[in-house]
Amino acid sequence: MLILSALTACNVKEKDISAGLKSISADDLKQNISVLASDDFKGRFPGTDGEKKTIDYIAAQFAKVGLKPANNGSWFQEVPLVRITPSSPIKFSVTGAKGRAELKEYDDFVGSTPLLTGKINFDNSDIVFVGYGINAPEYRWNDYSGLDVRGKTVVMLVNDPGYATGDTTLFNGKAMTYYGRWTYKYEEAARQGARAAVIIHETGAAGYPWEVVRNSFTGPQLDLEQNELSNSSLEFKAWITTDEARKLFEAAGLNYDNTVRIASHRGFIPVDMHLKASVEFSNSVARLTSNNVAGVLPGKTRPDEYIIYTAHWDHLGVNDALKGDSIFNGAVDNATGVAALISIAKAFKSLPFTQERSILFLSVTGEEQGLLGSEYYVSHPLYPLNKTVADINMDALDIFGPTRDMTIIGYGYSSLDNFVVPVLNGYGRYLIPDPEPEKGGYFRSDHFSFAKAGVPSLDLSGGIDDYEVGKELGRQERDQWTMQHYHKPSDEYDPAKWDFEGMVSDIKVYFQVGYDLSMTDQFPDWVDGNPYKPLRDKMMENLPK
Ligand SMILES: [Zn+2]
Repeated sequence: MLILSALTACNVKEKDISAGLKSISADDLKQNISVLASDDFKGRFPGTDGEKKTIDYIAAQFAKVGLKPANNGSWFQEVPLVRITPSSPIKFSVTGAKGRAELKEYDDFVGSTPLLTGKINFDNSDIVFVGYGINAPEYRWNDYSGLDVRGKTVVMLVNDPGYATGDTTLFNGKAMTYYGRWTYKYEEAARQGARAAVIIHETGAAGYPWEVVRNSFTGPQLDLEQNELSNSSLEFKAWITTDEARKLFEAAGLNYDNTVRIASHRGFIPVDMHLKASVEFSNSVARLTSNNVAGVLPGKTRPDEYIIYTAHWDHLGVNDALKGDSIFNGAVDNATGVAALISIAKAFKSLPFTQERSILFLSVTGEEQGLLGSEYYVSHPLYPLNKTVADINMDALDIFGPTRDMTIIGYGYSSLDNFVVPVLNGYGRYLIPDPEPEKGGYFRSDHFSFAKAGVPSLDLSGGIDDYEVGKELGRQERDQWTMQHYHKPSDEYDPAKWDFEGMVSDIKVYFQVGYDLSMTDQFPDWVDGNPYKPLRDKMMENLPK
């Protein structure tokens, strides 16, 4: 057992933190996860009864471990949202020389509108295949070059040309850039003035199977009231299956595989498919308030400087259209992260002394709907971002038992890595980079909102090098879980199957990394050339050193 947190390289004062480490227990985790993931909490969807139960429970646990409410005496930060619910079924048809084809919602496509409007109805919008739908001056790549897409429907591939070709000189090679992310693709289509944007799903390129798309993009869609997409020209945003895309290309007289291959190489020219899209559905718009939960532990000597721990509390709610189990309990995703947040707060409070910097424990809403709560936080921070040292995010902890390794998604992006390595090494463990950077994990949880705002953030997650079964089986076991249970009603708490030993070990690492950050006067920084560095440099400019 490691008793001293020895991080001399980062000037951390050595103190006895064993009481903090010892306080992190499987029993606490079991208790909190069993409540948060219970059917009673109805899948923790923002703006529902399930939210009320969830945020009250988290606030009560924060109070119990001795945190202070972080928002002027309140545990809650209100997050204004809009809920956009398309009426089902959405009518989506494509007309070409060979006639008209109706697409089947759920099986062939899913769609919605970002607009705060009651009805979507357009006919015969020209369909253009725009490759990856990317406009990236720094990579000298523009799929919209010379094209006016106003009024048109753009069809595009998910991920980016670097992924498709494996060419390390294209984008970031196999690792997905933000240009590969669906959020970017809709944003860019809106900036270009398109009427509709359709992304072709492909399991490998998206990082998840069709079922995940279907579950996530149907039913009520939430957004921040402030989102610019809701004031754009984009009336319809959709995903279609690969099978449906093949049919579409066939109707256009195009070879799907060839056209897609050409799209991943320089010199691709957008393809007018000579097809027309028609879309019709009614839509209801409601405004609602959701909440981030925030508790703080003031620091002793540098209380105006903050380390933030984040873990989203929300999940996918209930889908009554599903036969059988319709509750998305989100036990792993992310009752585990919230339970870890509570355990880490308790660990800090268990220390026989007070840490030097303040720690903010932030459980955010709307992550599953597009990182909404964390995006709202960085645009309305409770404490200044230039006094925010770092964000440490926890999303879906390990349930398979202890591993020798842990993963940093976005390894090498910032000097925060230097705080993780010695902690892991102290346990005889090691750090690995994201084994699947093509899945774009870096853009898929709340640390990304902080990164986009310039704040160094850490997405540290579980490993695969299982002490019991080794690397290969360790990875298989975890991949299998993702395929079978990720974003499905079967992500349930199962005390008989779950192994809490690995989770406890990983939480100790999260705690110690944050602890070390709280005991130094250093501000970790992005490495040179990182896209998030200029923003950070700017906000830190006028701060006294
Ligand atoms: Zn999650």
